[in-house]
Amino acid sequence: MAPRASASAPGRGGPVNAAHALVVAVIGPPGAGKSTLSRSLAETCTASIFRVREAAHRAAHADPVNPVFAAALESTRDPLGWLPDLLAHHLVRGALDAAPYQKMILEGFPGNDYQARALALHLRAVGRQLSVIELTARPGTLAGRLARRRVCPSCDTSPGGPRHPAAASRALPSLCSACGTPLLVRDTDRGEQAAARQARYTANLPGIRAVLVHEAGVPWQTLATDPDEPPASARLLSLMPFERTPL
Ligand SMILES: [Zn+2]
Repeated sequence: MAPRASASAPGRGGPVNAAHALVVAVIGPPGAGKSTLSRSLAETCTASIFRVREAAHRAAHADPVNPVFAAALESTRDPLGWLPDLLAHHLVRGALDAAPYQKMILEGFPGNDYQARALALHLRAVGRQLSVIELTARPGTLAGRLARRRVCPSCDTSPGGPRHPAAASRALPSLCSACGTPLLVRDTDRGEQAAARQARYTANLPGIRAVLVHEAGVPWQTLATDPDEPPASARLLSLMPFERTPL
């Protein structure tokens, strides 16, 4: 039987339960615009956003005696902030299973081939479709964005510290436009840490793609976010693997 031609046709991952909401992985190097695009997608499609480090911090604070989460928090002190793969999978699986009918955006996840394989196998087992949006940008674009990126410790109370880009005041560019608090540069956006994050992403990307595209048949779209490209948000609707949610 010929596969049905439709935007939501599953890959080779097996039958998809249409009642279970789609999962979109948004991946890309630091400075590619994952956070911005994820927020646009989430607003347009009424999806929730999963960020693995935030989930680890929430879990650790909700259950401080759990040795698994205590170990996870310990490991986030390493310069790259890696979480063990099994724990990362446990967290993403918990978030997915807690909301099977909620569209979900995985921001910056999976981070390697192990996480990609575990994710694809789990979603196939529960009949849920996965799609990937890979963001790219030229090295100069990425470096410029990291150099300019500031966060606000007052407006952004994300577990593990502020991480979402904040707008600077026009009159006093060192201050947050919303609350007047001095803006900060994220440690992970500086020199060696930024270079290490970039190198880690570059090293892991081929493995993620091999697993998801070639093993699991997951739809994969690439979107350049350089300033000379049309705004990513303007291309969202045509890229989007799920329909716009009616208001
Ligand atoms: Zn602020």
